[in-house]
Amino acid sequence: MNQESKDYPVARMIIGNNWIRKNEYENSPVYNPSTGKIIGVTPMGTAEDVNEAVKVAHKAFQTWSEVPSPRRADVLFRYRALLEQNLESIARLISKENGKTLDEARGDIRRGFEVVEFACGIAHLLKGESLSQVAPEIDGVTIKEPLGVCAGISPFNFPAMVPMWMFPIAIACGNTFILKPSEKVPFTAIRLAELFLEAGLPEGVFNVVHGGREVVDALCTHPGIAAVSFVGSSHIAKHVYTLATSHGKRVQAGGGAKNVQLVMPDADPEATIRSISGAAFGCAGQRCMAGSLLVGIGDIASPLKERLIHVMDSMSMGDTSGEEHVDMGPVIDGQSKSRILKVISESEKNGVRILRDGRNGLPENGFFVGPTLLDQINPEMNLFRDEIFGPVLSMLSPKNLDEAISWLNKLPFGNGATIYTSNGQAARHFSRKINCGMVGINVGVPAPMALFPFAGWNDSFYGDLHVQGTEGVMFYTKQRVVLSRWDNNYQRIQGW
Ligand code: NAD
Repeated sequence: MNQESKDYPVARMIIGNNWIRKNEYENSPVYNPSTGKIIGVTPMGTAEDVNEAVKVAHKAFQTWSEVPSPRRADVLFRYRALLEQNLESIARLISKENGKTLDEARGDIRRGFEVVEFACGIAHLLKGESLSQVAPEIDGVTIKEPLGVCAGISPFNFPAMVPMWMFPIAIACGNTFILKPSEKVPFTAIRLAELFLEAGLPEGVFNVVHGGREVVDALCTHPGIAAVSFVGSSHIAKHVYTLATSHGKRVQAGGGAKNVQLVMPDADPEATIRSISGAAFGCAGQRCMAGSLLVGIGDIASPLKERLIHVMDSMSMGDTSGEEHVDMGPVIDGQSKSRILKVISESEKNGVRILRDGRNGLPENGFFVGPTLLDQINPEMNLFRDEIFGPVLSMLSPKNLDEAISWLNKLPFGNGATIYTSNGQAARHFSRKINCGMVGINVGVPAPMALFPFAGWNDSFYGDLHVQGTEGVMFYTKQRVVLSRWDNNYQRIQGW
């Protein structure tokens, strides 16, 4: 990053009560993807910052873990209220640094709220099991205890929701937390932390350290960290999983995806088209649940293409940080834009038909790629397997549902797959046979609410316990079993 970076707002690190702003860091630029202009910089922290954050978080753990769970919930209730009050300003911040539309940004926060709401019930969620007289005069109970200092590493595409999959539950369980947000969207994470502190969270319970690989590796190897939650691309997820588990940590690591939208001939045409375009082009295709593979079974394929092109042609694209409504925003940065345009050009060279070309008619500024529809792809192509992470929908036309399932089960990922149909038998067959963890039946983006686990399979997830829901609580706690006997003169019951 160049010299004039000192003129831009710097994303602060939050370590205890220190709002660190040193001058000696390398800076990484933060763009407004709608304009292509730099709006701030992220200081790329070091292992030293991680050491400092662990020290502070470890100290805070000694008292936070002793706070009764209903009192910890009090802080979460206040946090929920503050998030609601600040929804619009956070949504604008998300739009500005990530590029998604305001409606999408509101959704990003609301999905995060749901996890806070879930975590407000922490006292109930932490209740254990008990059995009286498990042996003569002996009673047994299980107790869920916090792990210690936990770390979270998040991607750029959901600046609020993804970090909130992690820290509200971890902190509600009595842990302390160090978040390393994506260096591309650091300002939302800071706002989330500021509001949590304003809600009454003691200093040191929630810390934010910025950086890249050095910080991530330090979080994965530091002996003072008990658990690491990661969400991002699969190859980094695998790196984090391997490194952190080999250092004795509990790890949950969500990776990339290639999600399916399969349309049966009996699907409701209007609702299906709306749902497909929302799943494929919402957040400019930068969702880990983006429905980027379209499968048309039988006669539906050709009307489907026609209607989709019509919808795509009518989608507006533009500055999401302005006042005007737009349907679709830009992708995150220039590198991402070039990579996506290259995928389209190479597909063309390999004989793929471009039914709608998102390389045309783009706004002059910003990192825009238009909605694109590619046809006649097959399971042997990279286009079938690789995550594009942009507004590109690729279409396949297998003979029937069983051929479709056998093709789709070759995908390396396993996040989401949706079937559009009015036939219950087909829906049931698909949902039982498709090799992925989140299935939609007439639901375009089957991303589960906070009460359920976000259940990626295969290369979309490394670990055992997923984020959200009761799996989230299990991930951030360890169980102790206590057996007690208070009667020293018990009589063994005859024969037992
Ligand atoms: P990314 O993997 O580039 O970055 C994720 C995090 O890892 C960031 O905090 C980044 O700073 C850090 N990182 C980057 N390079 C690193 C390296 N070499 N070593 C250590 N850490 C590194 O992902 P992204 O581009 O920010 O996000 C998009 C990806 O995230 C997509 O693949 C998407 O599917 C995935 N994603 C998955 C889920 C899920 O639940 N499975 C949810 C959202 C996004």
